[in-house]
Amino acid sequence: MKYISTRGSVAAQQFSNILLGGLAADGGLFMPQSYPQIADKLEAWRSLSYAELAFEIFSLYVDDIPAVDLRALCEKTYTAENYRWCRAGKNPNEIAPLTTIAPNFHLLELSNGPTLAFKDMAMQLLGNLFEYTLAKRGERINILGATSGDTGSAAEYAMRGKHGVRVFMLSPQGKMSAFQRAQMYSLSDTNIFNIAVRGMFDDAQDVVKLVSNDAAFKSKYKIGAVNSINWARVMAQVVYYFKGYFAATTANDQRVDFCVPSGNFGNICAGHVARQMGLPISRLVLATNENNVLDEFFRSGIYRPRTAAQTLVTSSPSMDISKASNFERFIFDLVGRDPATMRALWNQLASPDAGYFDLNPTPYMAGLTRYGFCSASSTHADRLEMIRSMWQQHEIMIDPHTADGIHVAQKFRLANVPMVVLETAQAAKFAETINEAINRQPLRPTSLNGIENLPQHVYVMDADAQKVKSFIVEHCQ
Ligand SMILES: *Cc1c(COP(=O)(O)O)cnc(C)c1O
Repeated sequence: MKYISTRGSVAAQQFSNILLGGLAADGGLFMPQSYPQIADKLEAWRSLSYAELAFEIFSLYVDDIPAVDLRALCEKTYTAENYRWCRAGKNPNEIAPLTTIAPNFHLLELSNGPTLAFKDMAMQLLGNLFEYTLAKRGERINILGATSGDTGSAAEYAMRGKHGVRVFMLSPQGKMSAFQRAQMYSLSDTNIFNIAVRGMFDDAQDVVKLVSNDAAFKSKYKIGAVNSINWARVMAQVVYYFKGYFAATTANDQRVDFCVPSGNFGNICAGHVARQMGLPISRLVLATNENNVLDEFFRSGIYRPRTAAQTLVTSSPSMDISKASNFERFIFDLVGRDPATMRALWNQLASPDAGYFDLNPTPYMAGLTRYGFCSASSTHADRLEMIRSMWQQHEIMIDPHTADGIHVAQKFRLANVPMVVLETAQAAKFAETINEAINRQPLRPTSLNGIENLPQHVYVMDADAQKVKSFIVEHCQ
């Protein structure tokens, strides 16, 4: 399998080449040249373990890592030990277990990994793939990122102690939950550097962009990223759509709906890929919070990214996005993979006169239904109500992002089609909102009790690219 850019001006690349990079050189995102078709494999795959399933799927997308090595990487990543924080009473050996809420209504638990958010499902693989690939090439990488909480912690727990990798993670000082701060800042691994910047998430993000745009610095200090546009993350996320499908059905002629709490469109993009491979997904239901850029698009055909100032701070913060960085992947398929159309649309987004695109006058609108998407959004009040009713009626404690998903899924549920909502984080990460909803502290894995009291390792500085660069230089000696 080779990878091409959505903007069409880069030669096709092998997997390992796009693994360590970010955007393609023409500003596009990498996509597989075609989607491998798996309809005739479903029967055989139904009984596989998570690691085996992952290996089968990755084998279709990766042809420059020997099969024995790829299998070993899957086995090392997808162990029960690594994804052990499941709900009490569940089989602790099962990765991504399904919890049934009501007939044909399920929750797929993806937040049982080390940082209690679904990002661990992909990021843990990335950690192992990076270490493997860097060792093979005799290279090193310095990962620079900005986080509002979940991404940064998932990246740090994936990369801690990995040979050839350092992580410099910027976070907005004082803006994450106490638990999230404790998760990240309590790490004492010598290859992990937490930098709290004075400002908001967008200020941290701007610093990362400034540093990464300095081509000379970037190449001298081997600056890399693990953000959600990384194809390997999308690929890793494809696996649990299969897992969820098998768990919610008994035969391969059944179809399933998935509902996905969405921000950067990475998670649901993996669902789109699974569907294109032939997994019998009926609808992909996209849930947003008050930052409803994507909901607006799927309802109106108009994609209008917001500015940072127009982006609200909500109680499901990991979905607070101004533009959806993986969205370009879906539009690429929607426009029949035509790079000229992609360039025209993205030029329009970048143009100060437009800043949006409208697909209504184009033939592409019909594709939205053909690809099975529908969407809705939710509010703080909806979120609280859903956390409350899930707790009172089912004794299931959910986090605010998953609450957005369940709220939206309720609107689209059909009696005869299983609806699987992806659980994207555990309640423990968002104590304030849980407390507001049900007036009690969230449950957390007992071994994480007291994590807030551990010594914290964090450097505080202004949101200043020059200062961050000096810090990197100093710590790369
Ligand atoms: C990252 C994240 C999301 C959004 O996922 P995308 O892939 O960006 O759409 C939703 N919920 C939680 C808890 C997250 O951490």
